[in-house]
Amino acid sequence: MAKTPGKNDKPVRVNFDFRRELAEKIEGNLAGFCYQCGACVGDCPATTYGSTFNPREIMLQVLYGLGEELLVEDSVLWQCTNCYNCHERCPQEVKPVEVIISLKNMLADHGIYPDPVSKVIETFEETGRTTPLSPATDRQRAKYGLPPLTPVPMEEIKLLIEPASEEGDQA
Ligand code: SF4
Ligand code: SF4
Repeated sequence: MAKTPGKNDKPVRVNFDFRRELAEKIEGNLAGFCYQCGACVGDCPATTYGSTFNPREIMLQVLYGLGEELLVEDSVLWQCTNCYNCHERCPQEVKPVEVIISLKNMLADHGIYPDPVSKVIETFEETGRTTPLSPATDRQRAKYGLPPLTPVPMEEIKLLIEPASEEGDQA
């Protein structure tokens, strides 16, 4: 994990190439406004899974350009639940969750994602939904007076996702 360097540590060389690549992905240098106050940590549910996840530290890693620590197999990034609590709390409008989503997209660009994410992608490509439906889904909806779900227009979905798949094939 990234930490503030002490006087005996070697100087950190910021990897600006990584920061530029991320800034293009997220369309802005959001993490550049982080002043490490830690407000994003207080209400982050992912920090309760263990000691490895900390949105402030992730922003620090981004500031240092430590892509090699973040874009790895079993990255801590996947522990983020996308709850947006950090987005609400950050006084600098860094939008840590958006930074983390962009980092996850960079991982996906490199074909690195855990099995559960692969399963979600497969299900989406087959059904247009991120979770498979079952008769129990409609029974549950009926309890709340909701109509059964209608089929997803897969032809339209394919038109939307095919350009991205083709770009991936050419890479
Ligand atoms: S969106 Fe992710 S980083 Fe932000 S508070 Fe929720 S779990 Fe934590
Ligand atoms: S709340 Fe915002 S400014 Fe504070 S550490 Fe988190 S991302 Fe940085």
